[in-house]
Amino acid sequence: MDTTKICKVCFEPIQLNSFHNLTNNLCICYSCIKQMNPIFKSFEIDKVKALAIYHYNDYLKKLIFQYKGCLDYELKDIFITPYINELKILYKNYYMLVVPSSKEKIKERGFNHCLEMFKPLGLKTIEPIEKIKDEKQSDKTYLERLKVKENLILVDKEIIKNKKILIVDDICTTGSTLKAVINLLKEADVKKMKILVIAKRDFTKKELKQLEDPSFVLN
Ligand SMILES: [Zn+2]
Repeated sequence: MDTTKICKVCFEPIQLNSFHNLTNNLCICYSCIKQMNPIFKSFEIDKVKALAIYHYNDYLKKLIFQYKGCLDYELKDIFITPYINELKILYKNYYMLVVPSSKEKIKERGFNHCLEMFKPLGLKTIEPIEKIKDEKQSDKTYLERLKVKENLILVDKEIIKNKKILIVDDICTTGSTLKAVINLLKEADVKKMKILVIAKRDFTKKELKQLEDPSFVLN
């Protein structure tokens, strides 16, 4: 039986030559993983421990766009599966909270892009927070983004009580949405919170300055 697997990004055969890729059920080759630049960077948002798997580079940006912008659903597993065993250990017994997208956006796309990306973690998902009005983040200035919390509401306090919650998102840019989620969770008796993102975008001094300009549109 031919068990050769093909990389979902470059379509080359994946070399199954180590214990690591046999156990992690890889669907992306080492060369492509390397280009995504895994860094496992720890950071904090409002004192909540966060982890970014990859560095935000052009290659990753392109793949994310291909997945969520061009609706290439097949790419959903490539981001998490290279490190799935390690991540499963790290977040054992956590409940997963996907940063809410608007219902309209999910309907338009046909899938919840963030949920699908993190599904391989095998965690139970909970939806205590809903987004009430859709506003495209990238069309907003930095200052407008900070107001995003007004669009999120805590609809179920009971479901998060005494639970360990893993908040997941694709890209952390300003962190304002994550902050809003954290603040809402703080209203309930959550046992513990952690954050996992695919990548964290860091800004240069010049970009930070641009963000202060109300007319500046981030892309
Ligand atoms: Zn590849």
